[in-house]
Amino acid sequence: MVSNFALGSGLALDRASRIPLYQQISDQLRRQIAQGFLSDGHFLPPERALATMLGVNRSTVVNAYGELAAQGLVEPRVGRGTQVRRPSEASELEANLRALPWPELLLPYAESVSSRVLRDIVALCSRPDIISLAAGIPNPDFYPHPDFSTLFQEILTEQGGHALEHCPPEGHHPLREVLAARISASVPGHVKVVPPEETLVLSGSQQGIYLVAGALLGPADLVITENPTFLGALSVFRAFGARIVGVPVDEQGMRVDLLEEIMERRRPRLIYTVPTFQNPSGVTLSLTRRKQLLALARAYRVPVLEDDPYSDMYFRPEAVPPPSLKALDMAEGGNQVIYLSSFSKMLFPGMRVGWMAASPAVIERALAAKQLIDIHTTSLYQWAMARYIQRGLLDKHNAAMRVQYRIQRDAMAAALTHYCGDTLEQNQPNGGFYLWCRIKSGESGLALLERAARYNVAFVPGGGLSVPGMSECEPYIRLNFACARPEVLEEGIKRLGAVLKVKKPRPARPPTALTHSGQDLKPLV
Ligand code: PMP
Repeated sequence: MVSNFALGSGLALDRASRIPLYQQISDQLRRQIAQGFLSDGHFLPPERALATMLGVNRSTVVNAYGELAAQGLVEPRVGRGTQVRRPSEASELEANLRALPWPELLLPYAESVSSRVLRDIVALCSRPDIISLAAGIPNPDFYPHPDFSTLFQEILTEQGGHALEHCPPEGHHPLREVLAARISASVPGHVKVVPPEETLVLSGSQQGIYLVAGALLGPADLVITENPTFLGALSVFRAFGARIVGVPVDEQGMRVDLLEEIMERRRPRLIYTVPTFQNPSGVTLSLTRRKQLLALARAYRVPVLEDDPYSDMYFRPEAVPPPSLKALDMAEGGNQVIYLSSFSKMLFPGMRVGWMAASPAVIERALAAKQLIDIHTTSLYQWAMARYIQRGLLDKHNAAMRVQYRIQRDAMAAALTHYCGDTLEQNQPNGGFYLWCRIKSGESGLALLERAARYNVAFVPGGGLSVPGMSECEPYIRLNFACARPEVLEEGIKRLGAVLKVKKPRPARPPTALTHSGQDLKPLV
C-alpha cells in the first residue's frame, strides 16, 4: 500500500475552534480532493500515522475518514487503506454537497398536470412563427394606450409624486366609488346600493380567487366548479389542497339540476362559477338557473364565488347577459355571493387591476391577506382607472370592442366552417373571448396540439381546462377569437385545418415541438 499523500501538507488544526477536530480534518481533505491535490486512486495516509502526525486520537481520524466515505469522496479498501474516488465523481459529489437541496426544503405544492401542459404551451406560443389562439388576452391592436398615456401625464402633472405614493390597501377611494356605483346600477330595480366599503381593489381577479380560497378552503375541502373551467382557479384550489367536483355545462351554463345531489351528499365549502360567457365554453348561465343556483346555495349555506370578467363583451343587444349572481342575490337581500371582475379582458392584461365586491367580513379578511402579499395594487393605475371610468371612456371602449370582437368571432367561425367543417364542431357564443370546439375524430386536444406545433398554430387543449379525473373535455380545444385581427385568425384556422386533415398523424415529437424558446414567456390563462 502506497500513500502518496504528502503528510501534513496543508492540514492545520485549530484546537480553539468550536468545530470538532474530526470535522476540521474531513473538511480540509474534502477541499484537497475537490481541488485535485488528492486525485483519483490515491491513498490517504494510514489512520494511525495521520493521528500521530496531527497529535489526535486515532478515532478522530477514523471519524474524519468515515465522513468522507459517507459523502462518497473516499472508499475504504480492505487491507489497503482509504482510497480517493475518481475526481470527476468526487467533484460532482462535492458540488452536490455545497448545493442546498432545494427540492427537499420546499414544501409540497400541488402543481396540476394541466398547469405543466400549459407551461409547455406558453413556451410554444412564445415562438415568433406561431399563431397563438391560446392566450386569454384581448387584441393588442386595441389596447387604449393613447388614453392611458394622456391620463398618466395629466395625473402626474396635477398630483406630482402624490400619485406615486402608497395608496390605501383596500384601494384608491375614487376607484372604489365608481366600482361600487357600477355594481349598484346592475341590481335589478336598483333596490340595493353597494357602499364603496364593500369593494376591494385587487391586483387582477386571479388574486381574488387566491384570497377567497385562502379564507375558505382547507386541505380536502370540497369546491364545486363548472367542468370545464378556468385553469387559474383550478390551480389555486389544488394549491390549497382542496378537492374539486366538476359539474358539466350545457348551452344554458352549469347543469344546476345536478347540483342539489352534490350539495346534499358532499357538503361543499364553495361554489366557484364563471356564469357569463364562461372561460372556456363560452356559455352563459340562464336567468332561471341563476335563481336556482342561488336558492340552492342559500338552502345549503354555501358561499358562491362569481368570477365575471367577460360580461361586458356581448355581441348583440339581445344577448345582454342576465344580471350577475351578485346583483340578483343583493336584490333579494342576500349576502351569499363574492363577486370578482377585472380590467384584464376589457382593456389590457398588464394593468393587473381587478376588484371584489362582498360582505364586509369577507372584504376585511381578504384585505388582511392581500396586505401580506402586495400591500396594495399599483397606485397610478388606480388613479387612471378611476378617471377612465368617470369620463365614460370605459363604456365607450367596451362598446367599440363589442363591435370589433363580433367581427373577429364571425371571422373565426367562418374560417372554421371553411377549413375545419368536417373535423371540428364549433359552438356559437354570444360574447366573451372563446370558441369551444369538439374534435370530431375523438383525438385528444393535447395530441392535436402536439401535431399543430409543427404547423405553427397553438390553442389550449380541453384536457388542460378539466377538473382532475374528468376526461369528457379531452377531445375539445379552446380557440381565442378576441386576441388577433381577422386575417390572422383566418390564417391560424387554415393551419389548424391542415393539421386536422392529416389522417394518420406521424408520431408526435413533443420535446422538440413544445420546447422552451428562451424568450419572455407570457401567461396564457
Ligand atoms: N377569471 C377568469 C374566468 C379568467 O378568464 C381570467 C383571465 N383569463 C381571470 C379570472 C384572471 O384575470 P386577471 O387578469 O384579472 O387576474
